[in-house]
Amino acid sequence: MKLHTKIFIGLAGGIVAGAILGPLTKSIAPIGTLFLNLIRMIIIPLVFSSLVVGAANIGDIRSLGRIGGKTLMFYLATTAFAVIIGLLLAHFISPGQGLSIDVGAAQVTAAEPPSAASVILGLVPTNPFQAMIEGNMLQIIVVALFLGLGITMVGKQAQLVFDFFNAFAEVMYKLTGVIMELAPYGVFALIAPVVASYGLGVVLPLFKVILAVYLGCILHWLIVYSPLVRGLGKMSPWQFFRDVSPAMIYAFSTCSSSGTLPISMESARKLGVPNQISSFVLPLGATVNMDGTALYQGVCALFIAQVYGIGLGFGQQLMIVLTATLASIGTAGVPGAGLIMLSMVLTSVGLPLEGIALIAGIDRILDMIRTTTNITGDLVGAVIIAESEAQRLTESPSLPG
Ligand code: ASP
Repeated sequence: MKLHTKIFIGLAGGIVAGAILGPLTKSIAPIGTLFLNLIRMIIIPLVFSSLVVGAANIGDIRSLGRIGGKTLMFYLATTAFAVIIGLLLAHFISPGQGLSIDVGAAQVTAAEPPSAASVILGLVPTNPFQAMIEGNMLQIIVVALFLGLGITMVGKQAQLVFDFFNAFAEVMYKLTGVIMELAPYGVFALIAPVVASYGLGVVLPLFKVILAVYLGCILHWLIVYSPLVRGLGKMSPWQFFRDVSPAMIYAFSTCSSSGTLPISMESARKLGVPNQISSFVLPLGATVNMDGTALYQGVCALFIAQVYGIGLGFGQQLMIVLTATLASIGTAGVPGAGLIMLSMVLTSVGLPLEGIALIAGIDRILDMIRTTTNITGDLVGAVIIAESEAQRLTESPSLPG
């Protein structure tokens, strides 16, 4: 049986077991955590080594700049589109209409938008090892890019360093493959306790919010990703979704884009995306590209406005598109991060932060689909950038030489 079929069975089995066995499934939670830890263990060495090799292979700063620019443009555009889908659906479904929920005296403080200067300064670590210890993905990307460029500039003499990272990256891919064999069990153990802890009482009052976010994400896959994969990626969407399904299911069960990275990279290899591209586009995407999160923030902002009876004009909704796009970039790829960044979106249009408490109870359920969408968007980016660079990649010599 194919691995992705097994993982899907793990997911479906976990959902059924969680629903039937309820709290009993809590006892298998450590198996899920163990699997999660195994994946987390290899994220940083995997990303670092493959990005050094990727950057060294791309070669010059101009190509890196071109690929980086294209990637960011693509990510920004799809994210803004996602918020628009979220807003439209929230209008259509009106999840907050007629709802009056006692929010209580929730203490929520707004997340401050970081200044442009601090974002740029934050990209360059003063101590690369600290960046790795803290798992600061953007800083790790910067260090790896510099190292890769340095290898290229030195040329022949740096062959040893290049070979080392090349071999190291191969070892990491191998280990990812080994750990992935455990994925069906890991996914089962991760999802069952989550299903068990959400009763109908928690889900029903906010069912329409869940519906809007799930429907929105699936629409985004169908009307944005599929045509892009076909049109710009020159690939059948069917093949795309089949090959990325392990990563999607894993993201769905763990709610972490960063945690899914090794599996996304494996999926990209299956899709035939060259390593130079995926090792750059995917870690960047896992950190900054969050279409699902942005869509969710759009839905939630409108939902909260509806609950509190606050009308939002066109200008304010445009503001939501802008801030949700930015907030999603600033959202870390870990569970629940999007909920915290939602406060930034609410503040920008003067919506009550207490509304966050309404969402908090079901946030995990929303997190599952938005994280799935987040990593799918990254993989769409990888396929498209790879296609657009295909010509140049075959022309450029392998480095160092
Ligand atoms: N959990 C999401 C992710 O890792 C972020 C979020 O909470 O929206 O992509």
